[in-house]
Amino acid sequence: RVKDEGRGGLRFFEPSMNAHLHARRQLEQELSGAIARDELRLYYQPLVNANTGEIESFEALIRWQHPMRGLVSPAEFIPLAEQTNLIASIGQWVIETACAEAASWPKPWRVSVNVSPSQFRQSDVPAIAAAALARNALAPNRLVVEITESVFIQDATNAVDVLSRLREQGIRLALDDFGCGYSSLSYLQRFKFDKLKIDQSFVRRLGQNTDALTIIGAIVNLGHNLGLQVTVEGVETAAQLAILRELGCDQVQGYLFAKPAPIILASDLEQARLRAMFHDPVKRAYA
Ligand code: C2E
Ligand code: MG
Ligand code: MG
Ligand code: MG
Repeated sequence: RVKDEGRGGLRFFEPSMNAHLHARRQLEQELSGAIARDELRLYYQPLVNANTGEIESFEALIRWQHPMRGLVSPAEFIPLAEQTNLIASIGQWVIETACAEAASWPKPWRVSVNVSPSQFRQSDVPAIAAAALARNALAPNRLVVEITESVFIQDATNAVDVLSRLREQGIRLALDDFGCGYSSLSYLQRFKFDKLKIDQSFVRRLGQNTDALTIIGAIVNLGHNLGLQVTVEGVETAAQLAILRELGCDQVQGYLFAKPAPIILASDLEQARLRAMFHDPVKRAYA
C-alpha cells in the first residue's frame, strides 16, 4: 500500500486515490474554461402531448463538447460544477442560451431548463431569468424551470422564496424526478408547482411489475387533483406509451419520440411521425 516509504512523499494516499484527485482537479480546471472556449452545448428533447402527439415543449439538456474527451454527459460534470462555484456561471449560460435559442424557434414551444439546488444559493436565478427573457423578448410563460425536491433539503426557506420570485414573473415550475426522493409528497404542500415529472424508474418497471402501474396511476390522479400537469419521462416503447395514455398522463418524453439532439427536431415530417404514434384512441380503463 504505502509504496513510497523510503522517499517520504505520498505516504498517506493510495496511488489510485491520488490519481483520482488529480484527474478531478484537471477536469475542474478544464470545465472552468469551457464557456470561454465555447465548448458547452444545449441538446433538446421534445415533450409531447399524450393525447395528440403534438410537440409542446423542448427540454434543454447540457453537453460538454470536449476537444479530447468528446461529448461529456451532464452526469459527469454537473456534480463537479455543483461542488465548486462553476455551477453559477454554467447555470447562467444555460438559461441565457436556452432563452436565446427558443426565441428563434419557428413556433412558440416552451423551453425547460434544469436548475441545480446549488444555483439557488450561489446565484440570483430569478434575476438571471428575467434578464434573459427580456433580452430575447420571450414571454415568461415559455420558460419552464425544472428542479428536484433536493432543492428543499438545504435551505427550504430560501428555495420557497426563489420559487415564488420565479412564479411572480410568470415562469413555469416543474418538479423533476418525482417519486424517487425521500419525501416528495410533503413538497407538494410547500409549494404550488405547475407540473410533475414522474421519475423514469417507474416507467422502467412498467413491464415487469403491476405495482409500477398502480403507482404511476396514483401519481397522475394526485397531480390532477392538485391541478398539476403530469409528464412521464423515459418512455422507450409503444407498450409503455399505451399504458401511460390509459392512465391519463398529460405529456410524455423519451427515446420512443426522440433522443436529445443538438437542434430541435420539429419539422412537419417529424411532427407527422410523432402524431402517427398516437392515432389509436385512448382506452381509459383506469380513469
Ligand atoms: P433530467 O432532467 O431528469 O433529464 C432526463 C434525462 O433522461 C436526460 O439525461 C435525458 O437524455 C434522459 N432520457 C430522456 N429520455 C430517455 C429515455 O427514453 N431513456 C433513457 N434511458 N433516458 C432518457 P441527460 O441529458 O444525460 O441528463 C441527465 C441529468 O443531468 C438531467 O436529468 C438533469 O438532472 C441533469 N442536467 C442536464 N442538463 C442540465 C443543466 O443544464 N443544468 C443542470 N443543473 N442539470 C442538468
Ligand atoms: Mg429535467
Ligand atoms: Mg428527470
Ligand atoms: Mg434526473
